[in-house]
Amino acid sequence: MNATELRLNAYLKALKLSGVARHYKSVAQDAEATGQSYVDFLAAVFEQEILKREQSGIQFRVQQAHLPLPKTLDTFDFTAIPSLNKAKVVTLTHCEWIDRNENAILVGNSGTGKTHLAISLGYIACQAGKRVRFYTAAGLVNDLTAAQKEGTLARLERQWRRWDLVILDELGYIPFSPTGSQLLFQFCSERYERGSLLITSNLEFARWTEVFGDEKLTTALLDRLTHRAHIFPMNGESYRFRESIRRQQS
Ligand code: ADP
Ligand code: MG
Repeated sequence: MNATELRLNAYLKALKLSGVARHYKSVAQDAEATGQSYVDFLAAVFEQEILKREQSGIQFRVQQAHLPLPKTLDTFDFTAIPSLNKAKVVTLTHCEWIDRNENAILVGNSGTGKTHLAISLGYIACQAGKRVRFYTAAGLVNDLTAAQKEGTLARLERQWRRWDLVILDELGYIPFSPTGSQLLFQFCSERYERGSLLITSNLEFARWTEVFGDEKLTTALLDRLTHRAHIFPMNGESYRFRESIRRQQS
């Protein structure tokens, strides 16, 4: 490395321009080879910095989201679930529903790809610059209950406000305690029209009282949740089950 390069590297480090540091040599070579102007070269160099920051921003948001598995929409086979409105799902990938603080609810039997879709939409939202947090419903209720016991509920509430989209997976498998129900109700009410929720459930709405215990509370909750919601019925044959049958046959 010559003296100029050493100096340049020190400058880039001080300015925290690691994208430029990594790429300026190849961009400079390219500029020389193609006879670019100095201004074109500068634009190309800073483009590398922008790309790098976008990429690390996405990485950071994906990490913060705690998505439990790497699932994306490209691996989702829409033909496996004909009852699902693909065009409507594709509309959600533009993330405008998150800008409008709307909700999405995926309801259907086990194994129909609800979690897969929820993760995929969460990932897409991270790519679009949204702050996302994935929870299982039971996991969130545990966190809420613990926070209440420790007196840190207010702090948790302030954290929630940072999330543009909260995914609540698997509502319905485990019934909540009365306190748990109350806390989850409070959580959902707090987000109402202030942020988006994406909920997956194996239970149709009429049966949500079974998880929340209290009929009045469930009605009030459903009223808020479904007010501005994109609802996707996802009933069908279990994809897992079908795959295992196919494997056994081959
Ligand atoms: P659910 O949450 O509805 O119970 P999952 O999303 O967990 O179902 O799906 C079960 C498994 O089957 C996962 O590995 C998922 O990736 C896969 N799967 C389900 N539906 C599809 C689909 N339509 N295309 C591709 N994979 C699918
Ligand atoms: Mg699931």
